[in-house]
Amino acid sequence: MSNAAATMVKNQATDAPAVDARQELTDGFQLVIDALKLNGIENLYAVPGIPISDLLRMAQAEGMRVVSFRHEQNAGNAAAIAGFLTKKPGVCVTVSAPGFLNGLTALANATTNCFPMILISGSSEREIVDLQQGDYEEMDQLAIAKPLCKAAFRVLHAQDIGIAVARAIRAAVSGRPGGVYLDLPAKLFSQVMDAAEGAKSLVKVIDPAPAQLPAPSAIARALDVLKGASRPLIILGKGAAYAQADDEIRALVEKSGLPFLQMSMAKGLLPDTHPQSAGAARSMVLKEADVVLLIGARLNWLLSHGKGKSWGEPGSKKFIQIDIEPKEMDSNVEIVAPVVGDIGSCVSALLAGIDGSWQAPPAEWTGAITARKDANIAKMAPKLMKNTAPMDFHGALGALRRVVKERPDAILVNEGANTLDLARGIIDMYQPRKRLDVGTWGVMGIGMGYAVAAAVETGKPVLAIEGDSAFGFSGMEVETVCRYNLPVCIVIFNNNGIYRGTDVNPTGGTDPSPMVFVPGSRYDKMMEAFGGVGVQATTPDELYRAVSEAMDSGKPTLINAVIDPAAGTESGNIGSLNPTSSVRKMPS
Ligand code: ADP
Ligand code: MG
Repeated sequence: MSNAAATMVKNQATDAPAVDARQELTDGFQLVIDALKLNGIENLYAVPGIPISDLLRMAQAEGMRVVSFRHEQNAGNAAAIAGFLTKKPGVCVTVSAPGFLNGLTALANATTNCFPMILISGSSEREIVDLQQGDYEEMDQLAIAKPLCKAAFRVLHAQDIGIAVARAIRAAVSGRPGGVYLDLPAKLFSQVMDAAEGAKSLVKVIDPAPAQLPAPSAIARALDVLKGASRPLIILGKGAAYAQADDEIRALVEKSGLPFLQMSMAKGLLPDTHPQSAGAARSMVLKEADVVLLIGARLNWLLSHGKGKSWGEPGSKKFIQIDIEPKEMDSNVEIVAPVVGDIGSCVSALLAGIDGSWQAPPAEWTGAITARKDANIAKMAPKLMKNTAPMDFHGALGALRRVVKERPDAILVNEGANTLDLARGIIDMYQPRKRLDVGTWGVMGIGMGYAVAAAVETGKPVLAIEGDSAFGFSGMEVETVCRYNLPVCIVIFNNNGIYRGTDVNPTGGTDPSPMVFVPGSRYDKMMEAFGGVGVQATTPDELYRAVSEAMDSGKPTLINAVIDPAAGTESGNIGSLNPTSSVRKMPS
């Protein structure tokens, strides 16, 4: 390179460093791919378009798995749940402005749920956007993303791609996990630089989610409170499932002998059929426990904020909370023993304190729980055996409960209102991270994105149990399921509408009620349109056979389960959150 200077050309259009015409070159596209691959990211969830089409083509050419969706929100949801399942950030790639906004809903949802995710969106010319001169898909995406995610970065120079990807990964997975936005302007992708310099600019993130050890004094305080309890309870949340400290958690539960409840996405961390599970006595234990140990579960609306009727007498509880986020403590009620750290480290430290001096919880308490559980389970049993047509929710879910029991390693995706609330209670889970659902926001539309990513990330069969309304938010992705030939079986609980299919237009006009859909729709035909298997099931027996066959064959399947349109209740289990008019009583 003696006369290199003579052949140097300043790449003015792109602000990139000068390059030698004879040098080996790389560009922004390549560096993004290299940076992700260097950090062990193997899958991209995306919708192609300007300016990221070539990024996706090149990523596939470089051996990454690129899963191309029909709508960015579904690609984003896929990335989010990939993050939950793997503890590595799931990556979603979108086009600018509208594509970015579609993906942003998923990024915000990931952040709310504490799932690590990176949304990479192409964006328009900075100079034109900032002067608001009306570029193609003009939008200040970085500013819009910032309040809705954990961190947001923009990269202007190819040589900064490596450090930006490293920061994005670390921000997503360290501490409380969450969503990160990475803004990549179109110009960046075509910036050219010397390949060797480019390679040197990449950063492999060392220890992206460092262990955070709890203070010994915090552990001692927690053990003290726990030892003073007469009616103790452990509540496991999806943070505990995410932490992948399955063995430590099981050891703590079993060695301490404490009864436990599992939040929706924590179900299966220990089998729901475990003798210490208080799942079937949930209302009783929430009301009567005197000390509650929260492990990766927040006292948000899903736990009635730790107060009110469902928690029994005011002041009757002491809370111990394990969480990686110090600000979570005292967010709703007083936490008498905060334990801040990662769940693996905190649970191990507590476990070490369950020694010879430990006394199992009083038999009076555990016996009362078992009695209540047995009574509730016996009351439910006949409802789950009903084999009628049309089906009600219990009969249909009874059949699916058997399917899951026979295939404990399958992944269950679940959304809807009644379909969600009843399935959560009825279907026992047996292994960690097998139940994926609407999470902290109770958001509809996660179904197909979660189902696709669950199949891609784990290779296990997926059963998606969907309300007919919930399915509609991401239903076009059945084409994606068929295109990638994924082992996904979708069951639509088709009761002709939202909550129920029986609402009528009170004016007697020809428009239907806003709450109903085309009666007797055949969602199974949608699957057939794309080469998948479509089945109509009218009884629990038919449903059981069709789902079993789909799960065994691994063929993309959609089963239209005909549910009595009168069977559902308003808003499922959360009718209390739905304001109703006291001026005019509406039929529901
Ligand atoms: P659920 O809805 O199941 O109750 P939440 O999403 O409300 O669960 O709570 C999960 C909690 O777990 C969050 O407060 C989050 O900070 C915490 N968390 C997530 N990962 C970890 C981890 N590795 N160690 C400790 N806490 C964690
Ligand atoms: Mg419905």
